[in-house]
Amino acid sequence: MQGIVYKSTGSWYTVRTEDGSFYECRIKGKFRIKGIKSTNPIAVGDEVVFDLTKVGDESVAIISEIKPRKNYIIRKSVKLSKQTHIIAANLDQVFLLITLNNPPTFTSFIDRFLVTAEAYDIPVVLLFNKMDVYDKDEMVEVEYLVNLYREIGYHCLEIAAKEWENVEAVRDLMKDRVSMFAGHSGVGKSTLVNALEPGLKLKTAEISEQHLQGQHTTTFAEMYDLSFGARIIDTPGIKGFGIVDMEEDEIGDYFPEFFRLKSECKFNNCLHMDEPKCAVKNALENNEIAWSRYRSYIQMITGEEENYRTDIYKE
Ligand code: GDP
Ligand code: ZN
Repeated sequence: MQGIVYKSTGSWYTVRTEDGSFYECRIKGKFRIKGIKSTNPIAVGDEVVFDLTKVGDESVAIISEIKPRKNYIIRKSVKLSKQTHIIAANLDQVFLLITLNNPPTFTSFIDRFLVTAEAYDIPVVLLFNKMDVYDKDEMVEVEYLVNLYREIGYHCLEIAAKEWENVEAVRDLMKDRVSMFAGHSGVGKSTLVNALEPGLKLKTAEISEQHLQGQHTTTFAEMYDLSFGARIIDTPGIKGFGIVDMEEDEIGDYFPEFFRLKSECKFNNCLHMDEPKCAVKNALENNEIAWSRYRSYIQMITGEEENYRTDIYKE
């Protein structure tokens, strides 16, 4: 039999088959997947093959195979350094909720998130939420950001989850897909999910981020079927993605607007920093690349952790 993992506790995996039945499956012995060293071999979203075998009077479901993953996201344990936990697999898209204030979402955070998503090969949709509360200046700021990210190629929507404004557009994007919601605590993830599917509560909101910080908590993701043919993966306590190990010269490739220019740089291993005849720096000086994006890039290269407000466009 074949199905998708909806929930995992570490020793049990709840698998849903095509006909909608759920099976509590186990894995037998050591189950290792080549290439990834993780604390959990199977994650929510994984497509698996399992067999039902009789043990006495009981029927036991044992997973025998895991299908190749389209993508996956991981989390590195802080305590058990280098231990990798696969949070979820086979995501079709991630919605990143952004608010200008209460809480502020900095461009450095957005860009880091986008870079990680590019590295993981997961499409991102940017949802600018709480559009009902912004004043004139803030509206200008949102428009600036929407244009900036749209031009790079990211899908952007302006919504007000609490007012049900544009929620239908989000719903349309979710149909027949597996989605995840991310963003700082307080940006409106639970409000949005509740507007999409009244009654469904995210675990994400129940667990405070403080509580999880620095702990190797066993936070298990879970998949839910929504009434309109969409599926979401709820990941408690995770506001973004885990950090992917990236080489210095790889980071620029995950800034799509830099990557497009890369072949025009004099050196093919150009880091777009101090090299002569760099097409990215050239575009930056001609205002064809946003300073905020370049600054995020430099931060990622140098490992600086500085947050800039979103209002960098005023420069
Ligand atoms: P989460 O931590 O991301 O799940 O955020 P919540 O959904 O709990 O929302 C945090 C606060 O923002 C709550 O008080 C919500 O009512 C409020 N909120 C969410 N969406 C909107 C919106 O579109 N407009 C306004 N004005 N408030 C919102
Ligand atoms: Zn360059």
